Amino acid sequence: MPLSNAIYPGSFDPITYGHIDIVRRAIRLFDGLVIAVVANPRKKPLFSVTERVRIAENALAECDICGVKVIGYDGLLIDCAKSHNVHAIVRGLRANSDFDYEFQMALTNRDLDSDIETVFFMTAGCYSFLSSSIVKEVKRFGGEIKSFVPESVEQALAQKFE
Ligand code: ADP
Repeated sequence: MPLSNAIYPGSFDPITYGHIDIVRRAIRLFDGLVIAVVANPRKKPLFSVTERVRIAENALAECDICGVKVIGYDGLLIDCAKSHNVHAIVRGLRANSDFDYEFQMALTNRDLDSDIETVFFMTAGCYSFLSSSIVKEVKRFGGEIKSFVPESVEQALAQKFE
């Protein structure tokens, strides 16, 4: 079965140019892409799932990326993937530190459903250090984050930290 539709899951708390770079590259390979924002990630999120979905939608629009659906989900990723008729999971790899967790998740998801393949995109060199946590930390202390996130994301962070 061709891997025509993919799902890109994550916390997206908030979405950054690192995520957006992966989205741009994934939509060249797949016919359809769904960004799935996990409602209850491992770390307590700054933004609610509804806020993270809206922030990601606005950021994609600001970057002129069309046709990517953003949804919130809770529960097993594999169930969410099946319900959206998706056969590939997109994830990004930055440094070694990402690898162990990604490896574990990919093998677990394959065990749960061997029809769904995890596909990894290597980070762009310029975003290899970039994470949502870094962006939040810099903004919280009044630093400049223009090169890390679109303006609409910066505004959402400014409002949150007001
Ligand atoms: P999670 O909490 O599930 O890791 P994140 O929102 O932090 O969610 O990341 C979602 C996915 O995007 C992960 O696969 C992560 O490695 C990838 N990612 C995040 N930032 C970058 C970046 N700067 N470059 C490449 N991939 C990234």
